[in-house]
Amino acid sequence: MEKIPVVQDYTPPFARDGKFHVRLTEGRFQNLRRLTSWPMLALFFGLVWVQVDGEPWLMFSFAQRKLILFGNALSWHDLPLLAGVMIAGAFLLFFLAVAWGRVWCGFACPQSIWTWLFIRIEDFAEGKANKRARADGESLSSILLLRRVAKHLLWIGLATLTALTFTGYFMPIRDILAAATELELSAAIIGWIVIMAGLTYANAGLVREKICLHACPYSRFQGVMFDQHTRTVSYDARRGEPRANKRNADTNSGDCVDCGLCVQVCPTGIDIRDGLQAACIDCAACIDACDTVMEKLNRSKGLIRFASESQLKGQPSPFLRYRLAGYGAVMIAACSAVVYGFTDITSLLVEVRRDRNALFTQLDEHTVCNNYRIKVEGFADADESVAVSVTGEGEFQLFGPALIDLSENNSTWLPYRVCAQNMEQSRSVLTFQFRGEAGVVSKDSTFLAESI
Ligand code: SF4
Ligand code: SF4
Repeated sequence: MEKIPVVQDYTPPFARDGKFHVRLTEGRFQNLRRLTSWPMLALFFGLVWVQVDGEPWLMFSFAQRKLILFGNALSWHDLPLLAGVMIAGAFLLFFLAVAWGRVWCGFACPQSIWTWLFIRIEDFAEGKANKRARADGESLSSILLLRRVAKHLLWIGLATLTALTFTGYFMPIRDILAAATELELSAAIIGWIVIMAGLTYANAGLVREKICLHACPYSRFQGVMFDQHTRTVSYDARRGEPRANKRNADTNSGDCVDCGLCVQVCPTGIDIRDGLQAACIDCAACIDACDTVMEKLNRSKGLIRFASESQLKGQPSPFLRYRLAGYGAVMIAACSAVVYGFTDITSLLVEVRRDRNALFTQLDEHTVCNNYRIKVEGFADADESVAVSVTGEGEFQLFGPALIDLSENNSTWLPYRVCAQNMEQSRSVLTFQFRGEAGVVSKDSTFLAESI
């Protein structure tokens, strides 16, 4: 049987001047993290390159006043859709917090995902946690210096790639790279990339768990969301205590052999056996670590597991509660509203206003005209021009630009006149139609033939 590593002093693990080295572990929850984090990383680094008909699939270009979400060019008129996406996201977080605590933090939060990546790079460049901890107390040899330089260079490389990709969601990534290769990147963009890379390097490489502990607002409000039925990562004290290692174990000892492995693998440096703590991000690394120990000891797994306060007390603990159902219902409603909203997106924003100075103009005995001002704003690159026409109950004739060139007249108020012969009604509905490559928009207005 393999030896279970025992450390006597593990709070914080391998601490040297407040610094601790996280020991990597393996297990089903680490595999689950890979299942969530690798697709998310692939989406983050990949989607920025996806184009549909030469247009980015996702783009938040404030400079060009352009917003492209899942291939749909949104106008500023469609901004409530973004609010809907955020509301759905917020209620997803509430739902997860009530159901399983901080699983979002442990498995899907970018801060955690990047921190794990940086820890893996550290592990690769400088060796395992105990080796790194030992090296902390030794004088700097040339090989150690080389390893540390390699680690920081790899960190800087990943941080720069992250910053470049992130910037690519605000301006086309191909344009950034083309400008970079021709040394024409503006100082503003270089500055932005350097700041983003610096923040990534500092957050995931240096500050790490302190962000989760002190800066993340989610960790603050989730405390009020937990209840006695929330399944969080918990140590089963009834089974584990009194803890005892091989040397002092007796028949009354619990299952915890006090090996300290659960503490060594914890990315926030806490001991889960002290109970539920604000610093715990529910990453489940301690579950995997403890399960390996239990397996080696031929004891049942789950001394540390996802369990509610009631379950740990041996009391019934329903998973589905009114609050959870409520958050789930709002999340589904917000998602449905967003999906519906995407079916109703327009790439043209049109405003039609009647001339307020004159209700109508009588040209001759048979002909009456109304004046309008029209503004068309195009958001899809496919719409270079828009054809304007008019229909209604009567024979209407449109005077004004029949084709609006959006490259010249985007958002410009243009004067139009509509005339009708032998109108019988004093008031009728007139429909302006604007036809672009990306779609057709209709706007109703009123046509007056007599004073009201
Ligand atoms: S809870 Fe498990 S991993 Fe932690 S000290 Fe006890 S036996 Fe070791
Ligand atoms: S206590 Fe366990 S679940 Fe919580 S942060 Fe540490 S390793 Fe992750």
